[in-house]
Amino acid sequence: MSGANLTLNSGSSSLKFALFDNDASEATPEIIGKISGIGTTPVFSVKDANGNAVDGGAFGQLDTATGHAQAIALLLPWLAKHLGDASLAAVGHRVVHGGQFYCGPVRITDAVLDKLDTLIPLAPLHQPHNLAAIRAIADWQPSLPQIACFDTSFHRSQNRLAKQFALPRNLSEEGIIRYGFHGLSYDYIASVLPQHLGELADGRVIVAHLGNGASMCAMQNRKSVATSMGFTALDGLMMGTRCGALDPGVVLYLLQAKGMKISEVEDLLYRQSGLMGVSGISNDMQALQASDDPHASEAIDLYCFKAASILAGLVPSIGGIDALVFTAGIGENSALVRADICKRLQWLGVVLDPDANAGNAGVISVAQSPVKVLVVPTNEEAVVARGCRALLS
Ligand code: AMP
Repeated sequence: MSGANLTLNSGSSSLKFALFDNDASEATPEIIGKISGIGTTPVFSVKDANGNAVDGGAFGQLDTATGHAQAIALLLPWLAKHLGDASLAAVGHRVVHGGQFYCGPVRITDAVLDKLDTLIPLAPLHQPHNLAAIRAIADWQPSLPQIACFDTSFHRSQNRLAKQFALPRNLSEEGIIRYGFHGLSYDYIASVLPQHLGELADGRVIVAHLGNGASMCAMQNRKSVATSMGFTALDGLMMGTRCGALDPGVVLYLLQAKGMKISEVEDLLYRQSGLMGVSGISNDMQALQASDDPHASEAIDLYCFKAASILAGLVPSIGGIDALVFTAGIGENSALVRADICKRLQWLGVVLDPDANAGNAGVISVAQSPVKVLVVPTNEEAVVARGCRALLS
């Protein structure tokens, strides 16, 4: 196998991409890029393997009207130019929901796409963009192999209790169960845990993926035992614009007593809640930390309170906790959020080292802390590239 593998990760407001050389031994991208701020102020940026900015000069015009479809339409000619005479071997996609259909990477066919289309209502912020990117690549180079890697796959190791809702049995059998998400990120963290924790990597570890979307995963033997997200990526932690766990009675009240339409409730829960809804200022943690508005600090407090409560709720699934790992945009960069969450977990044996925490250092707990606390950068792209290699080799 030779050529490069392209990975695409279409998020709610961004399109991330990376190019991996198939002949290189490690799954480290040659280039990694991002169109962020889709729908607001889109920005294109790309870096090489050493973190140096690559000239994006020939990239077309982005503006506030640029949606995901236009972003990919601009990216493909830029990539073709960047590749020159080199060819692509395959394109790997992060696909958020694989439902009950898939528990590992799959080669994409029309039949696969038909199944994934049925899951769009379960991940409205991501699945439509994931599938649109697959169709755009198929139009661009119809014979190029495309592979889907799912955020739900990593959680297939969970037992029945962890997946079940207390709903009538026939609904569970229909597939209304907890699937869990951010599995590509958890898969990556699980793969590098031994480098950070040695033998403890196979112990009781909780990983907090705190990005614009956020969830936690309780692992034992580096396998998912329980997670905070459920049937959809709305459940669990408070997020950038998503509410997280909510009394289902609130949804009924909004529909019945307030007469809201289903589409309005969906918009409220997915796009207007979370940090955005509580602060009334922004969904962006960095922006809230920089604000002196009391609603910004209340939003951060609520975020940390809920994160600590949900983490504590995951502990029984693994019978204790040996290590806590923070990852993703907020988890990797916000010393304030990590400190606040950890302060609420002191009773569990979490003792932070304030200086290490302030420096985003690898280990941020004191040496004698019963629970080791780490900051580990995630790399979903590497897991997608690994999935492509495994399926095509
Ligand atoms: P992600 O979805 O993983 O890209 O994470 C995005 C989130 O990370 C946004 O809420 C950002 O504000 C937040 N973030 C990134 N850098 C920082 C930082 N230095 N301090 C606080 N939050 C940050």
